[in-house]
Amino acid sequence: MSAPASECLFCKIARKEIPSAIVYEDDTLLAFKDIFPQAPVHLLIIPKAHSEGLADLTPETAPAAARIPQLAAKLALDQGIQSGGWRLISNCGADGGQTVFHLHFHLLGGKPLGGKLCQ
Ligand code: AMP
Ligand code: ZN
Repeated sequence: MSAPASECLFCKIARKEIPSAIVYEDDTLLAFKDIFPQAPVHLLIIPKAHSEGLADLTPETAPAAARIPQLAAKLALDQGIQSGGWRLISNCGADGGQTVFHLHFHLLGGKPLGGKLCQ
């Protein structure tokens, strides 16, 4: 169940009510460092507008989300992980491993990530 936008952790980060290590910001997208990094580079990329996850996009919220892969590629270059390779994933729902119910993509890299997509 999603928190209302007023209570949502990543909405609060987008509104700068909670501090985060921001690495990129524009009108509709924000990227910041994951607080519990799983790799040398572990960024979270979010649309600023609240959506619970990939299944909840609307014609209003989808265009910003659709820009995330291109932004991830730019950030991978900026972060120095383009040549080594990187991963972009979004966990969707409880079985998908989602714990924060504001749409976000994990950008991971900086070490060999292995081939396993689930344990
Ligand atoms: P997920 O499990 O896919 O929903 O990912 C949520 C991610 O948010 C996890 O990797 C957490 O480490 C990360 N996270 C939780 N709280 C914060 C925070 N305050 N700042 C940055 N990342 C956070
Ligand atoms: Zn939110």
